[in-house]
Amino acid sequence: EADKRESLYITSTFAAKFFENNLWNTDEGRSIGLSYFKERGFREDTLKKFEIGYSPEEWTALHDAAIAEGHKPEFLEETGLVIKNDKGSVYDRFRTRVIFPIHNFTGRIIGFGGRTLKSDKKIPKYVNSPESEIYHKSKVLYGLYHAKKAIRDRDNCFLVEGYADVMAVHQAGVENVVASSGTSLTTEQIKLIGRFTKNVTILYDGDAAGIKASLRGLDMILEEGMNVKVVLFPDGHDPDSYIQQHGASEFKTHIELKTKDFIFYKTEILLQDAGNDPIKKAGIIRDIIESIAKIPDAIKASVYLRECSGLLQMEEQILIAELNKIRLSKS
Ligand code: ATP
Ligand code: MN
Ligand code: MN
Ligand code: MN
Repeated sequence: EADKRESLYITSTFAAKFFENNLWNTDEGRSIGLSYFKERGFREDTLKKFEIGYSPEEWTALHDAAIAEGHKPEFLEETGLVIKNDKGSVYDRFRTRVIFPIHNFTGRIIGFGGRTLKSDKKIPKYVNSPESEIYHKSKVLYGLYHAKKAIRDRDNCFLVEGYADVMAVHQAGVENVVASSGTSLTTEQIKLIGRFTKNVTILYDGDAAGIKASLRGLDMILEEGMNVKVVLFPDGHDPDSYIQQHGASEFKTHIELKTKDFIFYKTEILLQDAGNDPIKKAGIIRDIIESIAKIPDAIKASVYLRECSGLLQMEEQILIAELNKIRLSKS
């Protein structure tokens, strides 16, 4: 078993090197992959740090190279790098895509994300490695290997949606950044962050999907007893596109000015579409108390209740009664 896992790591590392070599040292890789990243504003040192690569168009390029180097077909299939169809013929999972290798937090390559360079809406934008004995999506954070030292030093972790966001934020000089790529945020991923810091700042996309995911994420982080803040990006921007448009220093300023403790963020988001409707307002108060009820520490929870009372001009006693009601119904 340990031998098998080791073989899967070795095959994955081989593939990462193959993709990387293609990006830098082939005409196809340079003209399609490398130029794509340059247009997006990524520097060579950033691409090298994250071991970014390119998968050629040819159907069996990786497969043939791996077999020639003595890698076993079973390991190519188990890692999902190669797919076998009903008729028994094999082909590469990743073709004509730029490749983001996924490391575990000790730095070993365990999976891949591949982005298409075509704008055809029928083609999935990202393809990810399937689960394997070495790759469990729900337990992995993209970028953690490169971020863990900075997370400890800064005692904070920025959480973004995508691979490109991790690289762009890192390149902007903010290295304590990870993404829950390939899945929506899991409790296991939050616990993993919790080994390095108890403070998370969510930097999700400023669109409806990102805002919805941020509300779900902040509740999950509160449930783990951790502190959570959120930064909202304007006009549907994500951190990467914001940096591309405004530059690294404006990005850092934006974060400094717009970081909101979860309760202010959630109140602002919810109040936006409630207007002056009193019934909706009551719903919001309940919704916010639902979040506060997730905080395991009673003192911390009561501090937030007081905050909420001020924010929504609601008597603290009523809020306390509501909180207790929620707590009772859940115990
Ligand atoms: P880019 O900036 O390269 O367009 P993004 O990261 O901004 O990509 P989003 O659409 O915001 O892309 O998606 C966020 C993340 O969700 C992606 O980085 C990827 O990990 C994952 N994702 C997006 N689309 C898919 C898909 N079709 N299949 C699997 N995962 C996906
Ligand atoms: Mn998005
Ligand atoms: Mn995005
Ligand atoms: Mn993006």
